[in-house]
Amino acid sequence: MASASSKVHEARVELYRSKGKIHHRAVAGRFNTLRWTVVWITQLIFYGACWLNWERNGEIQQAVWFDIAQRKFHFFGLSLWPQDALLLAFALIVAAAGLFLVTALAGRLFCGFACPQTVYTSIFAWVEARVEGDHLARRRLDAAPWTPRKALLRTTKHGLWALIALWSAITYVGYFTPVRELLPNLAVGLVGPWEGFWLLFYAGFMYVQAGLAREAVCQHMCPYSRFQGVMVDERTRNVSYDAGRGEPRRAGARNGACVDCGICVQACPVGIDIRDGLQYPCINCGLCIDACDTVMDKLGAPHGLVRFASALELGGARGAAGSAPAGMGAGRPRVWIYAALMAGFIAAGLWVLAERPTLRVDVLRDRGTLLLETQDGRIENGYTLHLANLVEAPVRLRVEVAGLPGAQIVGERVFDAGAGTITPMRVTVSMPAGVELRGVQPLTFLVGGEQGGARVAARSTFILP
Ligand code: SF4
Ligand code: SF4
Repeated sequence: MASASSKVHEARVELYRSKGKIHHRAVAGRFNTLRWTVVWITQLIFYGACWLNWERNGEIQQAVWFDIAQRKFHFFGLSLWPQDALLLAFALIVAAAGLFLVTALAGRLFCGFACPQTVYTSIFAWVEARVEGDHLARRRLDAAPWTPRKALLRTTKHGLWALIALWSAITYVGYFTPVRELLPNLAVGLVGPWEGFWLLFYAGFMYVQAGLAREAVCQHMCPYSRFQGVMVDERTRNVSYDAGRGEPRRAGARNGACVDCGICVQACPVGIDIRDGLQYPCINCGLCIDACDTVMDKLGAPHGLVRFASALELGGARGAAGSAPAGMGAGRPRVWIYAALMAGFIAAGLWVLAERPTLRVDVLRDRGTLLLETQDGRIENGYTLHLANLVEAPVRLRVEVAGLPGAQIVGERVFDAGAGTITPMRVTVSMPAGVELRGVQPLTFLVGGEQGGARVAARSTFILP
């Protein structure tokens, strides 16, 4: 009879994982190599980019830096402002269209190779295998009673996981607070509330997601696994079992190519049997392909019993491993629509980036006094010009007015705008006495370099009695 504590334990397991913890078998092969190549590339970028420096306006600063205080994002020589949010929108649309395109062509390829959840789960699982042994040793350890050895192994594993999670959190926060300042501050406990929150949150999140929850995240938390089905069709090349070639499966006999060794199931990180057909938990990681190809090598049979193949390809060429794949794009409007969306928004983004102004001007009329009449009968209006110099070098700017005959600036009209700053400037515009115009009149401020060149226009109004 199950004890109360074991019932509680089972209930906990059933809460998000029906088969208990999955310890998948390590396999070697081209898809495993590809996955680790992506892990190395993405992590070298993530952990390394925050340590690169770049010279801006004579100062050495972090090359990739979300400068929240100044509301700027620096990416090497490019500095983006909140006014460039359109570029962010374009980047998100391109990323979404790219994801849809890849899904339409090859299913959840992103999930299997590039998703952070997969990448960090791979790293955490690698650490686990180094500490506790292969999948069989890990299963034995799970079932074994607590001993000093088990406690030592578990402590070591969780300690290493915690260190990776903490270093990742420091790296993440290091993109917002320059990492070369953050580390010494951390060492002496000088951490602001937001930095402290994000360090703890990010580290805890990664520890739970990549160490404990793993494939359950993909199955129960990730919305993409639920809606990716609408992007695939019979020509999408998912990881598939070629039942025509494999069945009837027999251990040892050669009726079908599948010898029912079960290694593809043991290698699956989400614990499914690819021979049961396309299933939503499958992340298209290709590890079952590597596993089965190894078995086929031993049997001297051709690869491809499990492979990336479309339903059309398998249905139309049963048993013919390596047959020509069905057309990837022909007759598939969705593929062309996603590709066109990507190309269109990449082009639009590049155009916006190339054409983005280096100077922006916002005009605010004085709120307190609409107009002022001087002793000699002139009418004056006051303004504050917010001059945003979007380049990382100081500029000297000249302000002029146009569009209202007789209007001229009185007082200062040449200003220095610091590198990458928004500078508020007080400007007074005057109309001569005796003009016949009345009421609200349109007026344009023209701002440009002191030495001439392109000027930025900003519209406003001039108020007359
Ligand atoms: S079935 Fe194959 S491709 Fe799908 S998750 Fe499992 S190992 Fe990866
Ligand atoms: S690894 Fe290949 S041969 Fe072995 S059970 Fe899976 S499909 Fe069959």
